[in-house]
Amino acid sequence: AWANLQAAPADKILGLTVLYNKDTNPSKINLGVGAYRDNNGKPWILPSVKKAEEVLAKTEESKEYVPIVGSPKFNELIKTLLYSHDDAGKQLLKDGRVLTSQGISGTGSLRVLGEFVRTFYPTSKKVLVPNPTWANHVAILEKAGLTTEKYKYYDFKTNALDEQGMLADLAAAEPGTVVLLHACCHNPTGVDPKLEQWDKILDVISEKKLLPFLDMAYQGFGSGSPIEDLGILFKFNKAVADGKLSNFVLSQSFAKNMGLYGERVGSLSLITSGPEETVRVKSQLEKVIRPLYSSPPSHGSKLVEIILSDEAIYQQWLKDVKVMADRLIEMRALLYDKLKNTYKNPLNWDHLLNQKGMFCYTGLSEEQVKKLIDKSVYLTSDGRISIAGIYPANVDYLAKAIHEVTTN
Ligand code: PMP
Repeated sequence: AWANLQAAPADKILGLTVLYNKDTNPSKINLGVGAYRDNNGKPWILPSVKKAEEVLAKTEESKEYVPIVGSPKFNELIKTLLYSHDDAGKQLLKDGRVLTSQGISGTGSLRVLGEFVRTFYPTSKKVLVPNPTWANHVAILEKAGLTTEKYKYYDFKTNALDEQGMLADLAAAEPGTVVLLHACCHNPTGVDPKLEQWDKILDVISEKKLLPFLDMAYQGFGSGSPIEDLGILFKFNKAVADGKLSNFVLSQSFAKNMGLYGERVGSLSLITSGPEETVRVKSQLEKVIRPLYSSPPSHGSKLVEIILSDEAIYQQWLKDVKVMADRLIEMRALLYDKLKNTYKNPLNWDHLLNQKGMFCYTGLSEEQVKKLIDKSVYLTSDGRISIAGIYPANVDYLAKAIHEVTTN
């Protein structure tokens, strides 16, 4: 049956890892993969997760299916995590306007929301996505039957937000179009709008009655605190509570901020006009999820329940997130210092310090990336590096390699 099937093109990032694994240079560096590594370059299981695993091993009573939208406890805890830290969020909760569901990490939550929007959002089947965005966004949304179109986001000359371009593209959108926004630590650029820029973005969204589709995959990696990183969400909550915006949808992942990558746990939220609508939306959401995967996996979500409900473990989690975020900030500073002070690289590297989260868009050209790969430094052709792949023992080799390819 598959005799004439052509092979699919290799995945850019997974392809890099294959090359990296084959490389015998002991100094090789993998800056492709978007997963946290510790100061020795090793994956890290968070101490809070280890504790939650111990608790779960002692207390788990069954491996039964969980409900289609996840357990009631999980959903209550998600509401508390995301909507109970600001007055507007509290008001939305009190008014019964927040519907949450467990999702299969960020990807699954995006897909379910994509399916829901395509099936039930009456106004538009088009999603505007930032240029550039996480490559899988386009694939997920298009597989869900939506079309996508880019809006200006990153200024490739200044390595900063193209504020005017973004506002103009959103203002030119058909009223009612869906607009995908990264809630914090934009992937791949590391460039987030500042709070006052978010106000302007919200003004256009409100004027054009766009439906914001927020994706929050790195909550906590911006500021070091998962709660502080909700600053953008607070603005959207307030816009809804003030009647400036009628609703938004949000996809959220615990892959990065709990290090639960392979457990596939996250959530999605929809804002409704009130309790009666929430019940109707939930019933249809269940109809979307059921034929996709029936019900979500339970091991990761039980760990999340323990972490978010046990005060001591929750406090440990906040510390763990800070450890990860601080290490990434330190590595940005260390690489900057090496480039500017040790190697006296003539280029401006301020964006290394200004960008947030796991990734930095270096501004390196495709040609320079090729030369770096020849030196056993692996990164994607767009010049994105995962800061998590940098650690004290490899930063000098990395800085030297970048210096060489940018000055020769
Ligand atoms: N959104 C963005 C912007 C991401 O970078 C990622 C992970 N790379 C995700 C969503 C989803 O990841 P996951 O499915 O592992 O939660």
